Amino acid sequence: MNANQRTCETAAWNIDIVRSEFRILQQRLPSDIPLAYLDNAATTQKPSCVLDAVQQYYTSDNANVHRGLHTIAERATAAYEAAREKVKNHINASSTREIVFLRGCTEAINLVASSFGQGLKQGDNVVITAMEHHANIVPWQLLRDRSEIQLRVLPITSAGELDLEHLPTLLNERTRLLALTHVSNVLGTVNPIAEIIEQAHRTGIPVLIDGAQAMPHMHVDVQKLDCDFYCFSGHKMFAPTGIGVLYGKEKLLENLPPYQGGGEMIRTVSFEETRYADLPYRFEAGTPHIAGAIGLGAAIDYYHTLDLEAASHYEQSLLEYATSRLYELSDLRIIGNAHNKIGVVSFLMKGAHAHDLSTILDTQGIAVRAGHHCAMPLMNFFGVPATTRASFAIYNTFEEIDRLIDALNYAREILL
Ligand code: PMP
Repeated sequence: MNANQRTCETAAWNIDIVRSEFRILQQRLPSDIPLAYLDNAATTQKPSCVLDAVQQYYTSDNANVHRGLHTIAERATAAYEAAREKVKNHINASSTREIVFLRGCTEAINLVASSFGQGLKQGDNVVITAMEHHANIVPWQLLRDRSEIQLRVLPITSAGELDLEHLPTLLNERTRLLALTHVSNVLGTVNPIAEIIEQAHRTGIPVLIDGAQAMPHMHVDVQKLDCDFYCFSGHKMFAPTGIGVLYGKEKLLENLPPYQGGGEMIRTVSFEETRYADLPYRFEAGTPHIAGAIGLGAAIDYYHTLDLEAASHYEQSLLEYATSRLYELSDLRIIGNAHNKIGVVSFLMKGAHAHDLSTILDTQGIAVRAGHHCAMPLMNFFGVPATTRASFAIYNTFEEIDRLIDALNYAREILL
């Protein structure tokens, strides 16, 4: 891509303003190199408004929620519940009763596997896909080992897309749930979940969507998708770590047994019997991550200050530019060539281990991720132990991609 094309395609996007919100990006690393943060699929940086909201909570409103009757406890509760309302509106859930605050996507899937899983019987099956993160594999294996259910796996193609022709052969009258990722954290593939949900629903099978990698990059409308469960992690979308969301259709959540027991999730307790609180509190045992939820609310507010169409267009331009520049390196292989991708590129350099590559990139100020990306079965499918992954966010630049390419050329000289 030449400089003119770049300017033209990104004219709607003021990168300087965006970057000025993320103070961490302005730092220089030890040998006075600017940081190029290309590890956004692992976690994103936080804009000032999110940091300020968390700071504000701790400096003036810090109290426990739902219990105290004093002024700052009421302020804390109001801010925490306002965050829930923001999440509800952001994903277009029909009620805040459908929004459960948890630690993140991992905890959300564990909750469903544990609570929804209690209704499953020996011989039932759950269908997942070959491109899942361990967070959407291991909880189902734990359930399989507890309840003697079957775990079925939808294969993928060599391009890194779901092999949807196989789906009807996996879904049957004993399928109790289809659980799949919206976007692959390794391949960047965006799965056609609306179609898949419709197909599963035709035979009455509920669907859980792991939205960890989708939420940061696209608008998600849970009612339009008609998904039964949708989960995501705040830290991948500019919010703090340790806060995430499980969306569940009210009529499904209402019938699920609690996940954990303790304070907050009860109506009455005696030694003989405990009656549980209403939704969503029934699933929020103990003191929640109040500052995290408030930070997530601020991150959602931040999204709404952006021109989201321009943001998505900009991220796509970064992806296209990175892909075309990486293809210039003849000893480089990109893993994942789906038609519909978000800004994630996994690659291998012939003769170089991903970890060595990322260590050398780090000396040049480039932060990428190397490893199996918590997707070992996917690595096995591609016959590799690890990949190097660059993943982009709205604040990355074309120059950072140029620096990545220069650093890869430099790494080649050292390693090969
Ligand atoms: N699913 C996917 C697709 C992910 O990328 C991740 C995080 N890497 C998770 C689930 C788990 O998210 P968390 O660690 O925030 O619970």
